[in-house]
Amino acid sequence: MKPQVEIYDTTLRDGSQGEGINFSVADKLRIAEKLDAFGVHYIEGGWPGSNPKDLEFFQQAARRKWKNAKIAAFSMTRRKGVAIESDELMRQILEAETPVVTIVGKTWLLHVTEVLRAKPDENLAMIGDTIRFLKNHGKTVIYDAEHSFDGYKDEPEYALATWQAAEKAGAECIVLCDTNGGCLPEEIARITAVAKSRLTTRIGIHTHNDCGVGVANALAGIEAGATQVQGTINGYGERTGNCNLVSVIPLLHFKMKKSSVPETSLPKLKELSEFVDEIANVRHDPRQPWVGQTAFAHKGGMHVHAIDRVARSYEHIDPAAVGNFRRVLISDMSGRTNILMKAAELGFTLKPDMPEVKAITARIKELEGQGYEYEAAEGSLALLISQTLKHREPSFHVDAYHVSMRRDGAEHICEATVKVLVGGKAAHTVAEGDGPVNALDGALRLALGKFFPQLQKITLTDYKVRILNGDTGTAAKTRVLIESTDGKREWGTVGVSENIIEASLQALVDSMEYALLRK
Ligand SMILES: [Zn+2]
Repeated sequence: MKPQVEIYDTTLRDGSQGEGINFSVADKLRIAEKLDAFGVHYIEGGWPGSNPKDLEFFQQAARRKWKNAKIAAFSMTRRKGVAIESDELMRQILEAETPVVTIVGKTWLLHVTEVLRAKPDENLAMIGDTIRFLKNHGKTVIYDAEHSFDGYKDEPEYALATWQAAEKAGAECIVLCDTNGGCLPEEIARITAVAKSRLTTRIGIHTHNDCGVGVANALAGIEAGATQVQGTINGYGERTGNCNLVSVIPLLHFKMKKSSVPETSLPKLKELSEFVDEIANVRHDPRQPWVGQTAFAHKGGMHVHAIDRVARSYEHIDPAAVGNFRRVLISDMSGRTNILMKAAELGFTLKPDMPEVKAITARIKELEGQGYEYEAAEGSLALLISQTLKHREPSFHVDAYHVSMRRDGAEHICEATVKVLVGGKAAHTVAEGDGPVNALDGALRLALGKFFPQLQKITLTDYKVRILNGDTGTAAKTRVLIESTDGKREWGTVGVSENIIEASLQALVDSMEYALLRK
């Protein structure tokens, strides 16, 4: 069945123009495979001819089988004053051997006369010639009408003439682009409706997020009749980014009740979003709507209490529908329900009337009073619960440690020794590091590695320091939050002390202990 709205992904082209985003050919192929499996309809791989990397991507993509998506190559209308057959751009785009070609052309008269310095009629001829040429070579042609909305606002008749030129030449879809990202949803809806009423060709919508309404603008275009939406995963793109498909896809399905990707893909949305960030080496945004870590996190005691009774009382959809999950945050706002739900999430069975619940709640409040915080330190919290419940003995003790540092000219030397006791046995190790905490971490791992080789795969992913009660100067308390991973899951642990090294050691010890607890 044909979807009501087609998803056109341009993560690999428009998305890769975002600051800090850089994909190798192998990265692009992996992302394309993932998008294809997810069920997007078009994957724009790049601009052949703009760089050799993109051409290599297309050469490799041509040899693969794509289950759902059509691969599209991007280019622009032929050059001014050049015959189409002798335009280098056309030779390059044909070399990409894609079934679909997307051509960008000028809508805004200002750009035609001032930037391109072409006659208005020549621009119309450039649009028509390019599309006809590619159609004659058997391509499906999508026409990206650059600055559609700004152009229409300035010179509506000329904007319409450019779209009509594309229609007449046989474009499959005319995509209205808010290239500068400066329009409002109401303008997008109004101008898309005009295009819809004046053209018979399908309309697409391509928006940017400069005003923070990239997704809203895409929805406005769809509401007004667009049946293709262009965007990127996680909203990568130039300046503040493109319309975020990770929001558009569930919005189409859950809120607008329009078909796009297969329904079975929706629970894989979070995974897709995280995968692309991982490849791009970008930290996943915890506050990203739908898929972020905090998207279904509840903190206020009243909310948590209500959620426990009726989930939809404080959740707009079931988190599992997009592959996300509910999280209950622990803080001094926590009521007893938070503790119970958090404990269940961590795999403990607690009943409201158990005396341990009271003990755990009291202990958390006491430690929070000392500066600990458990919101992002579920590892430390799990240890606290487990110790109260099972009167569990820690797997190891740090009996003694020593950290030293000195500077010799430009060289810093940090060294740590650690003595660890496991059962009746002791291990005494020494390590050097870039800094004191790094040296301590190295020595601790070395010592524990003798007893627990499984800890070797644990790595630290983040280390944050917060100074509490700053008014006491250097004697202030320090809270250290450490994030660790075993490659599959991540957890946080916390330590608090007047001494930053001691606080770090507490968090490090908790991290290792938690890894042993949940193995
Ligand atoms: Zn764009």
